[in-house]
Amino acid sequence: MKTAEHLLLHSCCGPCMTVVHEQLKLEDFNITAFFYNPNIHPWKERERRLQSLKDYADSKGIPLEIDEEYPLEKNIRMLLDADNRCYACFEDRLSATAERAAELGIMNFSTTLSVSPYQNQSFIQSAGKIAGEKNGVRFVYRDFREFYRESIRISSEAGMYRQPYCGCVFSERDRYLRLKSPGQI
Ligand code: SF4
Repeated sequence: MKTAEHLLLHSCCGPCMTVVHEQLKLEDFNITAFFYNPNIHPWKERERRLQSLKDYADSKGIPLEIDEEYPLEKNIRMLLDADNRCYACFEDRLSATAERAAELGIMNFSTTLSVSPYQNQSFIQSAGKIAGEKNGVRFVYRDFREFYRESIRISSEAGMYRQPYCGCVFSERDRYLRLKSPGQI
């Protein structure tokens, strides 16, 4: 009999978790969610997204690991110094997830980030693969974008908090100045 494989799922918020969790369950993964997102500015926005994730995880009985660190200065410095801000952001979050998976003895990890049509999928794939290789765990990449509309439907019907911009203060500015809107949902 096949035994479900354990997978640590980097999770940015409740709405993105809905369909990603459903799809990975269909593949028979046993999922633990992991919240590490110091790129979400400001603090209150981080709290809203974390609360939506907690509520969803509770309702589905999903174990949730939370990294309570919020190194704002370090994160902003990293984003300012990076050649490509979004790549550095994925690298940071997926490296932390791979490290935590290795610490917990969970051999697979993945992310909810790939449900968004606003994110660069090749960046996610590359950052996840490198993080996995460094930590001896397997990055399970799936392109979940076809389920994006479904995530909007489920989260809207459930009255979940939905983010108005990707996360960092730069994306918040760009969203409201209507320059571009990575991660806007
Ligand atoms: S736009 Fe989104 S992915 Fe890019 S750096 Fe900001 S929070 Fe990270």
